[in-house]
Amino acid sequence: MQEQALQPSAFACPVHKHALGDNLFCTACAKPYPSVNGIPVLINDANSVFQTADYLQARGYEGASSYGGHLDNSRGWRQLYRRAIAALSESNPPGRTFDAAQAVKQIQAQQPDARVLVIGAGDSDIGGSNVVTTDVAFGAHVQCIADAHDLPFVDGSFDACIAIAVLEHVVDPYRCVEEIRRVLRPRGFVYAETPFMQPVHMGAYDFTRFSHLGHRRLFRHFDELDSGIVGGPGTSAGQMLRYVIASLSERAAVKRWLKLAALLLTYPMRWIDRICLGKLAAYDSASGFYFFGRLATEPLGDRELLALYRGG
Ligand SMILES: [Zn+2]
Repeated sequence: MQEQALQPSAFACPVHKHALGDNLFCTACAKPYPSVNGIPVLINDANSVFQTADYLQARGYEGASSYGGHLDNSRGWRQLYRRAIAALSESNPPGRTFDAAQAVKQIQAQQPDARVLVIGAGDSDIGGSNVVTTDVAFGAHVQCIADAHDLPFVDGSFDACIAIAVLEHVVDPYRCVEEIRRVLRPRGFVYAETPFMQPVHMGAYDFTRFSHLGHRRLFRHFDELDSGIVGGPGTSAGQMLRYVIASLSERAAVKRWLKLAALLLTYPMRWIDRICLGKLAAYDSASGFYFFGRLATEPLGDRELLALYRGG
């Protein structure tokens, strides 16, 4: 489903954070923001690794790696290879107990008209008519190009925010969570998934990892509703071994086949999670974590944080 275009007034200037007028015009900046094929490009150029100019070129900005199948122009065996790699490496790790769809269901059960912001939406479709989707690259469901360090929305404009595999790709995740806080209404919800034991992905655009407690601290201004593992130790070990195998050669042709062989060879390792996931020790070497919470009135103290350690 293609999301409908939003009115310019749904967006704010990423610098001044007040609502934009017609034609995405900011009176304080004394200029309009551009849009490409109806998608507003709302980047604070002075404060972002991304530049507005890059989105205005013929093919626009596609991200550090292939960002969704619609940008993949490959044909024949090359297309088959890419699709196989994508399907295997992006398939959901086994044993998941909670995900974004369940979070959204819980939010909507409490607040049927909840307005939801999805950051880093890419090609994923969270669904729902009251959902606003943003990313730093054009994708099938992206309604606005935005950098999470400066969200182009006025304060308190959403009831929930979802950020899946986003916070490892931002230079300052603490600032981004502050921005999430700013655009949420009081008691607003957040759902995030962030890697822990994962090799670098998306090239240069990968900066940070979080342990379960580190992730909890990142969201210290939120009360926890639920948190847990996304991909257990088997998934982490398989991913690491894949990268070890792929690093055995630097010749592009060899590397291509090494990557596919490594993926097929290590894929079954994720089933080890069937055994590990029920055990607390899995928290010490999980592939990633999710956090689902609600904006709190008081932040969680660092001493209280220590008591929440789950490993073993
Ligand atoms: Zn402005």
